[in-house]
Amino acid sequence: MATLELDDITKHFDDDGETIVAVDDASIDIDDGEFLVLVGPSGCGKSTTLRMIAGLETITSGELRIGGRRVNEAKPRDRDIAMVFQSYALYPHMSVRENMSFGLEESTDLSDDEIDARVESATDTMGITDLLDRKPTELSGGQQQRVALGRAIVREPEVFLMDEPLSNLDAKLRAQMRTELQRLQEDLDTTTVYVTHDQTEAMTMGDRIAILNDGILQQVATPLEAYHTPANQFVAGFIGEPSMNFFNVELEGESVVGDGLDYPVSDGVREKLTTDSLILGIRPQDIELVEDVESGHDVAVTVDVVEPMGDENNIYLSLPETRDGETFIANVDGRSLVAEGEDTVARIPEQAVHFFDRRSGEALR
Ligand code: ATP
Repeated sequence: MATLELDDITKHFDDDGETIVAVDDASIDIDDGEFLVLVGPSGCGKSTTLRMIAGLETITSGELRIGGRRVNEAKPRDRDIAMVFQSYALYPHMSVRENMSFGLEESTDLSDDEIDARVESATDTMGITDLLDRKPTELSGGQQQRVALGRAIVREPEVFLMDEPLSNLDAKLRAQMRTELQRLQEDLDTTTVYVTHDQTEAMTMGDRIAILNDGILQQVATPLEAYHTPANQFVAGFIGEPSMNFFNVELEGESVVGDGLDYPVSDGVREKLTTDSLILGIRPQDIELVEDVESGHDVAVTVDVVEPMGDENNIYLSLPETRDGETFIANVDGRSLVAEGEDTVARIPEQAVHFFDRRSGEALR
C-alpha cells in the first residue's frame, strides 16, 4: 500500500507545432488506501493524468511520487501499479487462468504454486472460479470485466488505476459492479485512482473526488463537500442531477435582479457578495412548489413540462419575464400534482441559494 502524490503535474502535447495543455499544474495528495475518483467532461485530461501515473505517458513538468518515491522516470512495470481499462484488454487466445497468471509469470519471481494460489484467491474474490478454463470470447461483458479486475488483483499492487472500467456494461450491471468494486477496494484497502465522466459514479464511489475541466483541477473534496460547497460554478453545475439552475443577476440595493428574478438577499449573505455581477444558483431538489406567494423568495411561475421519474418528478418551470423561453427545474415528490400549463409558485429558500462571481465563476456563498 502507498500514498500517491501529484505535485504540479503538467502535460503538453505537440499537435503539428501547436501546444495542447492536456493537464495544467495539477496537485493531488492521495492517501494510503484511499479511493480517489478523477471526474470531468470528455477531453478534460482525466485519462492523460491516469496514463502519466501509470507511466504510459511522459510528464512534461512536476513530480509524481508513489510511496514517497519519485517515479517520473520509472518504467510502468517498476511502479507497482495495476491498471484496468475500459476495453478490458484481455488476451483473446489465452484462457481466464492464463490471462490472470501471465503477468505474474513475466514480471515476478513467484513460484508456480504461489501464482496458482494468488489466481485462485482472486477468482474466488471475483466469483469467477468456474470460468477459469474459458477464453475471453466465451464470456459476457460483465464476466470479462471481472477477469480484468481479477488480473489486477493477483498482482497485489501498491496502486490500482482504473480508466472507465464499467462503461461497457449495461446500466443494471454497472450499478451492481459499482457496489462490488467499492466493497473490493475496502477489503483490499489498496490506493485507487478511478477515472470516469459519470458524476453519479464519482459521487457514489469516491472517498474523495477530483474534478477536472479543460486540464485544470477545479476541486478535490469529498462527494458531499463538492455537492454542498462547490468551489466554483463549473463544479456546482457538474455535480448533482439534474444540474443546478443558474440565473444571471445583478446586485441592486437589497435584492439581486435578473433573468426574471427579483430576489431579496439578507444582510449576512450580501456581505459575502464581493461583486455586483453575479450568478445565483439553486439546486432543483431545493426548490419547493407551494400554493401562495408568502415572501420575496416565492416566485410565480408557469409549469412548462412535467417529467415523471417514478418517485420524483422533474418540473420545468418558466418565469413570467422569461429568459427567451428558458426554463429551470424543480425536482419534487412524484406524488405532487401539477399539470403542464398550470400557474404555481416556486419557493427558493435563501439558505439553499449559491452565489458565484460571474466573471471568475468562483463561489462566493
Ligand atoms: P475522454 O473522457 O474523452 O477520454 P479525457 O478527460 O480522458 O477525455 P484526455 O484523453 O486526457 O481527456 O485528453 C485531454 C486533452 O489532451 C484533449 O484535448 C486531447 O485531445 C488531448 N490529447 C490526448 N492525447 C493526445 C495526444 N497523444 N496527442 C495530442 N493531444 C492529445
